[in-house]
Amino acid sequence: MTDLVVETHGLTKRYGQRTAVDGLDLTVPRGVVAGFIGANGAGKTTTLRMLLGLVRPTSGTATVLGHDLSEPSSYLPKVGALIEAPSFYPGLSGERNLRVQTTLGAIPDRRIGEVLDVVGLTGRGADPYKSYSLGMKQRLGIASALLGSPELLVLDEPTNGLDPTGIREMRELLRQVADTGLTVLVSSHQLVELEQVCDWLVMVDSGRRVFQGTTAQLLAAGSDRLVLATEDPRDLDRLVTVVRDQGALAERQGRKVHVPLGGVEDVTGFLAGINRAAMGEAITLVEIAVAAGTLEDRYASLVGAA
Ligand code: ATP
Repeated sequence: MTDLVVETHGLTKRYGQRTAVDGLDLTVPRGVVAGFIGANGAGKTTTLRMLLGLVRPTSGTATVLGHDLSEPSSYLPKVGALIEAPSFYPGLSGERNLRVQTTLGAIPDRRIGEVLDVVGLTGRGADPYKSYSLGMKQRLGIASALLGSPELLVLDEPTNGLDPTGIREMRELLRQVADTGLTVLVSSHQLVELEQVCDWLVMVDSGRRVFQGTTAQLLAAGSDRLVLATEDPRDLDRLVTVVRDQGALAERQGRKVHVPLGGVEDVTGFLAGINRAAMGEAITLVEIAVAAGTLEDRYASLVGAA
């Protein structure tokens, strides 16, 4: 059995002249929470729909749970998905709504209690769906995707529209679900919403992949920066010019100047060069620090470069 739950090669989808997904090579290792990150229109939903056999690729190949994309019936029973807003009967309780699905899908009824427990709705299962908050509705949607005991759970923007508390709950839920051994592929247009919970990240921009790897690899890919401050704040703009004259990028952020260190091998030498050049211009530096970049910085620079 392969260790890759999803693997695509050159996956492409065109709608007329518009290329929604452009030669995407994507892998999702077994057992991870994989974040599929990209701005609105980057091609996430189209990719997920192709993986679920809802949209036919224009070209490229893919396997899901070791089966070819062209045979969705061989893998779909082992995939749970929440791609659009879940549709439930508003007047029925969460539990009764799930019962409709277990009946239709010939799924053992004991799964209802189990999945309500996983998504933290046990105490609210008897309440009508229409009385649920948006976050609870999303969680019921995930419960419904879990009913068939899938090996892979695919979620399209489950944090959309949620408030910060709902987003945090969704993160905790994803982690809990992953801890049961499931592989989760979850899309979002906001890296910050998912970075704490994802072990694996695939980032797309304009239908193309800009990064794939572990969260640690993304951070290690050189997003550190120098943070400089001058004794006299009026010197900050001149410092930006001095640093740029050294061939480096520099940007003023409030009372500091930020200098990305991507690609700099000899940080000490680089730092000494900037210090000398600043002294040469009679600028006194009172702070020189190396700050670790955030995942968000790294993402922005990858998308910018692409
Ligand atoms: P969002 O976060 O807004 O859902 P996304 O990353 O999921 O964005 P997609 O919905 O996959 O992006 O869309 C990618 C591109 O393909 C967009 O430019 C979109 O307008 C286009 N597109 C998607 N579906 C269709 C369709 N059925 N017909 C024509 N164009 C489409």
